[in-house]
Amino acid sequence: MAASETDRFLENNARYARGEALHEPAHPGKQPIAPARHVAVVACMDARLDVEDLLGLQTGEAHIIRNAGGVVTEDALRSLVISHHLLDTREFILVHHTRCGMLAFTDDLLKAGLEGDAPAGKLLGQATNRRFTACGKCAASPAAFHAFRGAPEPLDAPPDDRNRERLAWDVRRGMSAILNHAWIPTQGADAVTVRGFIYDVDTARLEEVSYPGDVGSIG
Ligand SMILES: [Zn+2]
Repeated sequence: MAASETDRFLENNARYARGEALHEPAHPGKQPIAPARHVAVVACMDARLDVEDLLGLQTGEAHIIRNAGGVVTEDALRSLVISHHLLDTREFILVHHTRCGMLAFTDDLLKAGLEGDAPAGKLLGQATNRRFTACGKCAASPAAFHAFRGAPEPLDAPPDDRNRERLAWDVRRGMSAILNHAWIPTQGADAVTVRGFIYDVDTARLEEVSYPGDVGSIG
């Protein structure tokens, strides 16, 4: 079986982790609208991730969808459905990463802090080493922040088995949301493949998340 584009990107990632620069920054000139590698990536917005660099992607090769956590939200699904059905992407790649800020709070805590709950604000200030300023108002949107499930830990805490598992759970949650979506085919001639990874911001290496696997609760 021919290597997938994702496998090629994993080889690129190993080279990036060894210090090679693969992404060409110069504008390549006129290109088609559809991504040349037929790939869409969903990745965290974290400032330490240069998605093109760490996968060795060139301009024009892939869609890159980024948000806090690289979470497969309703909006990410909207983009993926458009990416596949209108622009012919066939491989989806999810990228979470170590030391992610989404490990350091809960939705309830952030919401309470924003609304003006003083203890919540104090905790958020301690977690982020930044003075947290409440807004003192309620809001209907966003309905969720999608902080990762499990007990929050200090911001930028080093990787360990527990937070790796929390990351893996959210990767699998995203894979499940994609693989079970009514408008994302996973069988037949128009099938899409989905693979999920945790990027180590300290070593620059991607580690694949097994699927299926645990998606359950954490203490
Ligand atoms: Zn992150």
